[in-house]
This record gives sequence, C-alpha cells and structure tokens, in this order.
Amino acid sequence: MSAAEPDFQIPPVRIVNPAGSSALVLVCEHASPHIPDCYDHLGLPLEARKAHIAWDPGALAVAERLSKRLDATLVAGTLSRLLYDCNRPPDAPGAMPERSEVFDIPGNIQLSVEERAARIDGIYAPFHAAVADRLARKSAPVLVTVHSFTPTFHGHPRSVEIGLLHDSDTRLADAMLSTAAQHNTLSVERNAPYGPDDGVTHTLQRHGLPGNHPNLMIEIRNDLITTKAEQNAMGDMFAQWITQASRQIEAAGDIQCSA
Ligand SMILES: [Zn+2]
Repeated sequence: MSAAEPDFQIPPVRIVNPAGSSALVLVCEHASPHIPDCYDHLGLPLEARKAHIAWDPGALAVAERLSKRLDATLVAGTLSRLLYDCNRPPDAPGAMPERSEVFDIPGNIQLSVEERAARIDGIYAPFHAAVADRLARKSAPVLVTVHSFTPTFHGHPRSVEIGLLHDSDTRLADAMLSTAAQHNTLSVERNAPYGPDDGVTHTLQRHGLPGNHPNLMIEIRNDLITTKAEQNAMGDMFAQWITQASRQIEAAGDIQCSA
C-alpha cells in the first residue's frame, strides 16, 4: 500500500449467515457509522458522526433479526455512508457528500480524483461485488435492502412510519403493501419518505432489475427501532410480511421459490 492509499483497517463489507438457505438476500448499506482513524473523523464533531447522516440507526439489528428468522444471508456495510454511500453510484453527488442535511463534511470537500478513486475501489466496488456474488449463488433470488430514516428532516416531522420503496419492478412492494394492510396499524406507504426519483434505489437498479429478481427497499422510521426489543419485534414483523408476500408472488408465478 502506498502512503496515498487509505487504510480502512477493516474490510468494507461483512457477510452475516453466509450459508443461509433462503432465496432471500438481505442488504444493509448504511449499517455502521464507523470512520477509520486515517480520515480524522472527516472533520466532523461527535454529534454529527453519531447522527443519522452517518448511518441508519437500528437498521442492522433489524436486518440481522430478519437474517436469523428467515435463514437468509445478509450483506452489511462496515463503514460510514459519509465516507462512501454504497446506495449511490460513483457519479452521484451523494456518493461522497460535501454536505448532509445541516452538516458540512469538511473531509469530503473538493476531493481529488485519486481520493475519490480510493474510496470507490476500496468501499463501493467490493461492497457491490459481494452483493452480486451472494445473489449469483441463488437460483431464484429475492433482494431486500433494509434502511432507517430520521423522524424529523430539516425540522419537519415525518408521519410515515414504514416506507416500502421500489424502482420499476413493483412486484414485491405491491405484495408487501397488501400484506401490511392485512396485518397492522403502522403508517405504511409506498415510496416514502422518498422514492426512486430521489436516487435512492441504486442497489435495486444494479442488482434486482437486470436479473428480474423481485426486489424491495424497506425504510423504517428510526424512532421505532431504538431498543433491542423494538428491533427484534420489527424484524419478526418483516419476516412474517416477507414470507407472506413471497408466497403471494410465487403463487402469481413471478418467482420459483419462496423467501
Ligand atoms: Zn439508508
């Protein structure tokens, strides 16, 4: 490694339950707020490094519970989205943001071509190679990504509690929405609090659409998953929904085996 190359100290991706038998492959891009020492906190105060701009609080715990419940492999990021947001392509402004909500990110301002390339090659490329590899091991995979969002954004409260997001393939989202309507009283909405027009469906576009694999992005309002008990309950709920929704689209002939 040359002096110019960053030392991430840990691999940028972690595989949970690699031998999982389910057709379901889970992805959690924003699982961790970790910023390696060599980046000097990206110049951010602790308040910002622990905030939702750095990661999706609670999402990994829900994804891990889902992985366990459904015996599904989970691909999780290990580094902060502020270093590289693995749900954005390299040419997106948000891939290595200079500003996120109310915080400037000093360590991301005017990055050189070499600095950008180091993060793309060191974080984005291996993360997406791992997702592709895990999907390729399944004969008829189903892709679900797990995220959380902040209850207030730029000072405005958000009433939606669960967002079910999709790109051009609506099959799994449609089935999940009809399942959700049968099951609970949470506020569940399609493509909310944002959607594909906001550039948030990169992982679905890259890994779900080309192979025609049913795919979905789950967004959970993070105030609902602050304790272990809440995270487990949310994971259990989604395990039930995904199982039921997968049976529904399997019965419609859209997939060959259930998640
Ligand atoms: Zn996220």
